[in-house]
Amino acid sequence: MKVDCAIIGGGIVGLSVGMALLRKQPGLNVVVLEKEAQLAFHQSGRNSGVIHSGIYYKPGSLKARYARAGNRSMIRFCMEHGIQHEVCGKVIVATKAEELPLLEDLYRRGVENGIEVIRLSPEAVSEIEPHVRCLQGVRVPSTGIVNYREVCATYARVIRSDGGEVKTNAGVMEIGGSGRGHVLETAVGEIETKFLVNCGGLQSDRIARRAGQDPGARVVPFRGEYYEVVPHRRHLVKGLIYPVPNPVFPFLGVHFTRMIDGSIHAGPNAVLALRREGYRKTDIGLGAVLESLSYPGLWRLARKHYKEGVREIHRSLSKKAFLKSLQQLIPEMRAEDLVPAAAGVRAQALLPNGRLVDDFLTLRGPDSIHVCNAPSPAATASLEIGRAVAEQIPEMRMAVTR
Ligand SMILES: Cc1cc2nc3c(=O)[nH]c(=O)nc-3n(C[C@H](O)[C@H](O)[C@H](O)COP(=O)(O)OP(=O)(O)OC[C@H]3O[C@@H](n4cnc5c(N)ncnc54)[C@H](O)[C@@H]3O)c2cc1C
Repeated sequence: MKVDCAIIGGGIVGLSVGMALLRKQPGLNVVVLEKEAQLAFHQSGRNSGVIHSGIYYKPGSLKARYARAGNRSMIRFCMEHGIQHEVCGKVIVATKAEELPLLEDLYRRGVENGIEVIRLSPEAVSEIEPHVRCLQGVRVPSTGIVNYREVCATYARVIRSDGGEVKTNAGVMEIGGSGRGHVLETAVGEIETKFLVNCGGLQSDRIARRAGQDPGARVVPFRGEYYEVVPHRRHLVKGLIYPVPNPVFPFLGVHFTRMIDGSIHAGPNAVLALRREGYRKTDIGLGAVLESLSYPGLWRLARKHYKEGVREIHRSLSKKAFLKSLQQLIPEMRAEDLVPAAAGVRAQALLPNGRLVDDFLTLRGPDSIHVCNAPSPAATASLEIGRAVAEQIPEMRMAVTR
């Protein structure tokens, strides 16, 4: 099979790239290759389902710009395609005196990022979330909720209706150069492509290396575990309730999320997973463990932040510790109100110096682009990321010979 562009990864980013590319260069021969039997099987189908506003991110960063624009474009896309969603807003609350300056910093950051943010007294928080106890809060009205699996299914439908292909059970095993373009050994046979886009999520650094590119960072898998609130206690949570984030690790800090199906999730935490796609505590891959242990970046990260790491492991192993974090937000929450729910695993790029890659990161190779870091809010920002990647793909229609 010969194509103009092969995209590795049927998650939300790969599908968005495919859709944007076909809109920019109609008639192109595009194929999205997904190794699993279904789309959105990894991060894109195992997340909190939040359409983020962009309040958290460093002003001027890609995350800040794409999240803010992505919030609007995602909501517009859902409206255009009849995808169930809700712009319910969220509250971020300080429950300890030492969090008050951090909450104020967050408020200012939101303003700087051009997002509507509203300071809330504890009484005003109570009007929105009657069961939350706090010292102060911030409301972000533009935050929403959606099922990203449904968004992915719709992206795939658009690709197909625009003439592209989306193949599942089509893992890419080997990547060779053909002088111009690449030759892919896949589970559905050999594919010759003029251009390659790598949106492999948890596998993206390995794929980049297979294609002869050095991403300069290693993907480290952080499992995010959730509990679900039992149905008869769902009334304790009206919408989205977040603690003030740790400025160093904004993804630490469990929160309450009302999902679009009405269920309430509590989490996720962030524990180092011992397998790239390790959704259970018992999932251990010897290769992945050796790969992690041999990476100096992980040792440096562990040395600098072992306290946070130990705390997260404790919260993963002890329901009591998990509950304690949740009770900081809603003191009425009890252990019997929570049942374990499916986990997700985040792909986070880590530099050899032990620093996490903060922003979205893409790498350009000859005839290829590699999306090497697309953690949260990449689902929210997927339409923006897709467009930005498609912009970098050269005009090909005239050059293709088939
Ligand atoms: C617990 C958790 C909560 C989150 N909450 C939110 C949220 O509320 N809002 C938000 O905006 N973001 C959230 N995120 C982040 C968001 O889900 C991700 O940033 C986004 O889904 C990344 O999409 P992706 O397409 O890059 O990766 P993925 O969805 O992981 O897709 C990559 C795909 O590549 C495929 N693949 C890998 N190797 C190969 C190969 N060799 N051949 C073929 N296919 C291959 C994989 O099977 C996979 O399907 C969350 C993430 C997690 C884990």
